[in-house]
Amino acid sequence: MKIIMLGAPGAGKGTQAKQIAAKYQIPHISTGDIFRANIKNGTELGKKAKTYMDQGALVPDELTCDLVMDRIQQDDCKNGFVLDGFPRTIPQAQALDAALKKISQTMDFAIDVDVPDENIVNRMGGRRACLNCGATYHIEFNPTKTEGKCDVCGNETVLRDDDKPETVQKRLSVYHEQTQPLIDYYKNQGILKSVDGTKPMDDVFTDIVAILGE
Ligand code: ADP
Ligand code: AMP
Repeated sequence: MKIIMLGAPGAGKGTQAKQIAAKYQIPHISTGDIFRANIKNGTELGKKAKTYMDQGALVPDELTCDLVMDRIQQDDCKNGFVLDGFPRTIPQAQALDAALKKISQTMDFAIDVDVPDENIVNRMGGRRACLNCGATYHIEFNPTKTEGKCDVCGNETVLRDDDKPETVQKRLSVYHEQTQPLIDYYKNQGILKSVDGTKPMDDVFTDIVAILGE
């Protein structure tokens, strides 16, 4: 099963993608996590990506597409994968379609996690991330057991630089300009499904399972 998670930053794509990956036994591929791991490890890609991410801008397609195309060709992706945060532009979606076409494949589902902008500001302001293992929490909706400590690995949880209020507005406008057109792109392909992302996390997941099948 090959799935794309669509939705604004902070809509809950990562939260749902992790659960999808666990239930359907497919890898969760988050370009944001890949960039953050590169930043942490001080790689050239990380240094380049950080300049864009800190401003709430998108990392250029030429730095993003190849890394995803390489990743989806790895062995663990042969039964499918769930893409989280990619594609974010029409050229990225076209690059993905072209790469899959070469191996006579297509995406199966594009799931739009629909959350209005007014909820997003609270979602991102309350998000806490573990930059060590990638786990995410919310101070109100999904708090850590011990304040400020990751439940999974015990490292510190932080407010991401790009979740600060001044960057959130920029990311939302980038989303509306560059990423939202993908909703029509996948509607035209007949694979778009929408879920109400304002529901509690478990209910959103139940709705997604109803779409993907048990
Ligand atoms: P995205 O991957 O789309 O950027 P996340 O999955 O990281 O978004 O979710 C953003 C924040 O909102 C996180 O702090 C997460 O814990 C919280 N969150 C996710 N889904 C829900 C939900 N259905 N209700 C309330 N909070 C949620
Ligand atoms: P995310 O963790 O998905 O919210 O992504 C964090 C940031 O990483 C984004 O605001 C972008 O700067 C960058 N990023 C992640 N995925 C992509 C992508 N597919 N294309 C361009 N930039 C991306």
